[in-house]
Amino acid sequence: MSRRITVQKFGGSSVANTDRINNVAERIISYLKKGEEIVVVVSAMGDTTDELIELAKKINPHPLEREIDMLISTGEQISSALLAMALHKRGYEAISFTGLQVGIITDGSHTRAKIIKINTRRIREELKKGKIVIVAGFQGVNRKKDITTLGRGGSDLTAIALAYALDAKICEIYTDVNGIYTADPRIVPEAKKLKSITYDEILEMASLGAQVMQARSIEVAKKFNVPIHVRSSFSNEEGTMIVSKTKRLEEAVITGVTLSKNEAKITIRDVPDRPGIAAKIFGKISDEGINVDMIVQNVSKIGTTDLSFTIANSDLSKAIKLAREVSKDINAGEVSADEDIARVSVVGVGMRTYPGIAAGVFKALAEKKINIEMISTSDISISCIVKKNLGEEAVRIIHKKFKLHKINS
Ligand code: ADP
Ligand code: ASP
Ligand code: MG
Repeated sequence: MSRRITVQKFGGSSVANTDRINNVAERIISYLKKGEEIVVVVSAMGDTTDELIELAKKINPHPLEREIDMLISTGEQISSALLAMALHKRGYEAISFTGLQVGIITDGSHTRAKIIKINTRRIREELKKGKIVIVAGFQGVNRKKDITTLGRGGSDLTAIALAYALDAKICEIYTDVNGIYTADPRIVPEAKKLKSITYDEILEMASLGAQVMQARSIEVAKKFNVPIHVRSSFSNEEGTMIVSKTKRLEEAVITGVTLSKNEAKITIRDVPDRPGIAAKIFGKISDEGINVDMIVQNVSKIGTTDLSFTIANSDLSKAIKLAREVSKDINAGEVSADEDIARVSVVGVGMRTYPGIAAGVFKALAEKKINIEMISTSDISISCIVKKNLGEEAVRIIHKKFKLHKINS
């Protein structure tokens, strides 16, 4: 019915100051002239969300998550109201809304809530009146109408979920780069922009650190086949289409290299080497909702072994506490943490059928004397843990090794 709706999301850097908000308003108006109905999703201005989190920590190092959500959801409310004002000043009818007002209902898990349903009635009513609808990204409400947020980068999820719920013809993600590249263009200046990328590839890249899209939002897009165009809010250049199948005749073996500096490693020493111990350690950690990523267990010679695993940095203090408790329980030794790590990954669906990629990655790092502390693989990615200060160099080396600047995008 309403295939004319376009959802446009503008990220934090695109609305970082009043000039940029005015620029976004002009852009929206230029689209409107083509006779489209537009729903706009905005992020908080610039680094507002980080600043609000810092502020909270100054008041209370361990704030309740409910109150964090009350606080950090305000950033998006500011930018959405300002954008509405910028449009009004130019003579256009626009109306801004919070998540509650546009019926974004989530579960109760504060700071990482899942969207359960969206009641689009109000948005449709306002669109029918000819208004530009502006929605504060990143937020919803739970059944009790308490404000929840959707995880960092969650305005992407708001936009994609709305595009699905409104049966929009496209979801446009406006950001501060021209699209999705073979690596973060800030780290690898010669990285190449991809004309298109599959949901699977960008999902893996985003999960492994490519901040350009929130990983969770891609899961939703993939499930409901929402077409996405990632492009710049500062130029008119075509960006990158995220699709279920690319038009490439043969899939690229590698699509991208990513870097994540948000991980930490925990090591438990002198773990007794007997059945059931790993189950005990990781059972306890997963019961607390902490995701363990890579695991390495050294070969045991004297009946005990050292066990290392990686987790998200944000879970570190919780995970250390749990690891110390289990270590005591099972008579293991010292527990230590290492935040001085980075994860470098190569991603590509073509890797499924193409041997030798892992060896190429290891060789490239070895040639530059970069030590690999841990390795993990999936069928479409290979990751290495290296020292944090070598992470960016590792990305450049691997990008060069596989000649990704020459990729047929
Ligand atoms: P926004 O505020 O618009 O949501 P983000 O900062 O979340 O923007 O995401 C855009 C940033 O993602 C870029 O500035 C870029 O540095 C980074 N990035 C990381 N990996 C990639 C990649 N492969 N392609 C493009 N950008 C990437
Ligand atoms: N402002 C939120 C964040 O910084 C959501 C977003 O920008 O997508 O994570
Ligand atoms: Mg983002």
